[in-house]
Parts: sequence; structure tokens; C-alpha cells
Amino acid sequence: MSAPAATVAALAKGLAAGDFSSVELTRSYLDRIQAAQPGLNAFITVTAEAALAEAAAADAARAAGKAGALTGVPLAHKDIFCTEGVLTTCGSKMLANFVSPYDATVVSGLRRSGTVMLGKLNMDEFAMGSSNETSYFGPVCNPWNVAMVPGGSSGGSAAAVAARLVPAATATDTGGSIRQPAALCGVTGIKPTYGRVSRYGMIAFASSLDQAGLITVSAEDAALLLGPMSGFDPKDSTSVESPVPDYTRTLGDSLEGMTIGIVKEFFDKGLDADCESRIRDAMRVYEKLGATFREVSCPNLPLSVPTYYVVAPAECSSNLARFDGVRFGYRCESPKNLTDLYMRSRGEGFGAEVKRRIMTGTYVLSAGYYDAYYLKAQRVRQLISADFARAFSEVDLLLGPTSPTPAFAIGAKSDDPITMYLNDIYTIGANLAGLPGMSLPCGFVGGLPVGLQLIGPHFSEARMLNAAHRYQLETDWHLQLPAAFA
Ligand code: GLN
Repeated sequence: MSAPAATVAALAKGLAAGDFSSVELTRSYLDRIQAAQPGLNAFITVTAEAALAEAAAADAARAAGKAGALTGVPLAHKDIFCTEGVLTTCGSKMLANFVSPYDATVVSGLRRSGTVMLGKLNMDEFAMGSSNETSYFGPVCNPWNVAMVPGGSSGGSAAAVAARLVPAATATDTGGSIRQPAALCGVTGIKPTYGRVSRYGMIAFASSLDQAGLITVSAEDAALLLGPMSGFDPKDSTSVESPVPDYTRTLGDSLEGMTIGIVKEFFDKGLDADCESRIRDAMRVYEKLGATFREVSCPNLPLSVPTYYVVAPAECSSNLARFDGVRFGYRCESPKNLTDLYMRSRGEGFGAEVKRRIMTGTYVLSAGYYDAYYLKAQRVRQLISADFARAFSEVDLLLGPTSPTPAFAIGAKSDDPITMYLNDIYTIGANLAGLPGMSLPCGFVGGLPVGLQLIGPHFSEARMLNAAHRYQLETDWHLQLPAAFA
């Protein structure tokens, strides 16, 4: 079989038609992973043997007439999702030896649908980062230019899909970690509505913002995979009890009569002029498809980065308190006493960015500063949500850039946290408001991909995927491959 440069939809068809077996398919992806790993570092763990066993089981299920739509399709998980019996590191030294005793709900849902797990993907430590440079396991390189970052924190997921080392990958998005790396790697990313997908078994960063989603080649592939990982889960009190639609059913619906909002603040300043022109090209495609545009204003949205950098560190400082050297993961050598055990285990186990967040979070939650920072940030968060609600009373979806620039060089921003934080200026708003968002490839600047962002009202995934799919029927940016991986 030739290089598997196909979509999940095409692979599922090929498997159903008997053009190839899941074992053959899995083997060819494992070969691609092995060849690319030294150059890209997209994986933390490759589960080759288990993958081939799962693939053989998928082939047997198909032979017995028990195959579903996704039976035998390979994929990989961001290393933030717990996987039973498999190393789950969250990109940290703290969990470098942690083997999970259970599967995350996302993992078990996709397993039940018959998919085959190829391994665990590299990521920023505890999902804190926008460049995949904070991973304890080393940076991931962008397949379009290995001197560039792939974005983060789901950099491994995005790079692996872009280089077609996997046809699809799970990912998570707390402030943009699905959409921004998808944009920088020229692939499709979807962050569903907060509560749509269970967070059980997904290692927590900032619980009121974290959401699981997907990085895929196409919107159609995202629609195929989102169903099996979505829905109410009694093990996650924030998962929402509302029926999961068949996201594939409405993919082809007409966009005639759709009103798309252009958020004025997204185009005010800071957006690279060439990136802006790719976004404007995409708007013309939507016009051709029957959509009309209206400018909307979200005046509080420019406050989303400072708001996020109070709320997210506050929640992370609390979530990461569990890593104390006693119960999980890393423990320092020969502690002198309990305090020494706590201090050195955490001091040695966490990287610099994680420590920066924990310290900021502890500070903003402290008795003297709670009102000035945390409470105020929560209030601004409400104002940002209200801005979006007002916008969605006038328009069906919002459209804008995913990221202010294409991929930047590895090392270019790693010493300057504020510049790094500004990468997520267009994505964080959706997390603060719990809204679903997508990034779609919409062209190139200087040989690097540019991402188009769609944001929808709560639980509008079906409509958003429909709008994305129709765009992808008119364009082929999402089907472009980096030369080195074609
Ligand atoms: N880049 C953002 C951060 O570092 C978002 C991360 C994420 O979405 N997990 O917090």
C-alpha cells in the first residue's frame, strides 16, 4: 500500500470495501511514525504491538460482520488522556513514569467505536504552552518547516496529522490548544462546547476551561469521530446531558441564508497583513456559498488574554496540588522529611512554565489579592460571555483568524512569556465563554499554513462542521501535504 495520505472517511470506506485490512493500514502508519519520529518528535509513546493486536481484532470483527463505521481506523491520543496500562505523561517529568489504571471516557468511547490506538502524542507540559516547547520530552517540529514550532499545547497531535503519521488525533483546548496548533500545521481542529465531551480521565489543567476535541484532516473526519467521544458521562459533573446529534447528517446542508459575524476587534491590530488577506479570501468563498457577513463588536474581547492568565493559573494551582510526590508520579530521592519530600518532588518534577503558572495562581487566589485579581477576572469573563451572546443574537457563526501569525521559529518566543501568551488572543474568548470553535486551513504565507477560525453558539457543532465542510468542498488547503511527508 502506498503512503496513507487519506482522510478517515476514505480509510473507513477502503476498510469496508476490503481494499486493505486494518492490520495493513496500521502497519503502514507505524512505519511512517517510525521514519518521522527522529525529525518531528510528535510521539511520546508508540504502542505498536497493542495497535497491531487491536487492528487484528478489528479485522476479525469485520469478518464476523460486526464492523461499525470506524472499525479498524487508526488514531492517536494526546498524552493528556489516561490510557489503561499505557504511559500517560502529560508532557511532564512529574508523570514520566505514570501508567494509568483506567481509560479516559474519550479513549474508551473511541475504543468502543473500533478505532485502533497507535500511541500517545507529545504536548506542552500539562498543556501549558503555545509552541510545544515546554514538553519534558523535547519540542515537536512543524512538518512544514522543521525549524518552526507546531503550535501548542497539542503540537504532537497537529504535527502528526499534518505529516499524516496518523489520520486523526485527539487533543484538548483550554485557551486555544486545539485550534492554534491546527492552524500552524495546516490541519482541521475542533474544540466542542464546554461540557459536550467528558473530561473524565483527561488530566486537569484549568477545569472551567478544559475541553477535549479533535485534530483531523477534514471537517468531515471530525464529524465522524466527534459523536463517539461526546455525550453525558456520570463521571464528569460538568458533562452536559443533551442528546448527541449525528454530526455527519447535516454536513452537506446549504449555507444559503447563513449570517456570519466578523468580530471587529479581531481585525483591529496585531493581525499579520498576509494572514488577514487569506481570511478575506475565505470570506469570498463563504459569500459564494450563500452566506452574508455582518460586522459585530465584542468590546471586552481584548481583555481575554489577561482574564485567562488569572483564571487558568488559579485553577491550575489548585489542580496541580495533587502532584505532591506521595500519590502520583515523580518522587525526589531520599527526602529528609515530609516538607522536603513535597518541596523537592514538586521543585524537581515540574518545569519552569508550570511553576510560573502555579505561583501566579497561588498569588491571585491569596486572601489579600483574591478580590483584586481572581474576582475581577471572573467578572470580566462574564462580560466577555455577554459580548458573545449579543453577537449570536444577530449572527449564526463568527469568523476570523485563529492565530495572529503563521508558525514562528523554535526558540523565538520561549524567553518571553507575554509574547508567547499573545498567540492565543483570538482563541481564548471561546474558552472563557464555553463556546465551540474550529480552525480550518485557508492558505499559506511564506510556505506556512494559515488558519481560519469559526466560533459558534453553545452546542452548534453540527452547524459549524457543516459550514467547515462546505468550505472544504470548495477549497483544497486541507488536503495539501508538507513536501517532506507527501
Ligand atoms: N496556550 C495557552 C496556555 O498556555 C492555552 C493552552 C491550552 O489550551 N491548553 O495556557
